[in-house]
Amino acid sequence: MAENTDRLPQNIPGRYYVDSTCVDCDLCRNTAPNFFRRDEETGFSFVYHQPGTLEEIALAEEAKQGCPTESIGNDGSIDSVPRPYGSQVEIEKLEISNAPVPPVATGRVS
Ligand code: SF4
Repeated sequence: MAENTDRLPQNIPGRYYVDSTCVDCDLCRNTAPNFFRRDEETGFSFVYHQPGTLEEIALAEEAKQGCPTESIGNDGSIDSVPRPYGSQVEIEKLEISNAPVPPVATGRVS
């Protein structure tokens, strides 16, 4: 899990960030190239643009969830998401829709 205390200084301020455990696998930059970029000097990825719309946030979340080293964090700072696209209610709905679906009980006992 990404640590806010290890947040790379190259990240633009805002809720999404990459920490120093990045292994330069390129996945986030391929998944969400509008938000993640490679620092050529260090080889780390960093967030250079914060997502604003719900679609952009979904892409950033996809990159976050796909990161093999869990180096991408979301500090939950709602105020960094531009309005009107990122109201707290909309973001909570998106986060709920991205949550794992619990198994459904069938009523059968095996
Ligand atoms: S997906 Fe994770 S490990 Fe791979 S480049 Fe991005 S931040 Fe680094």
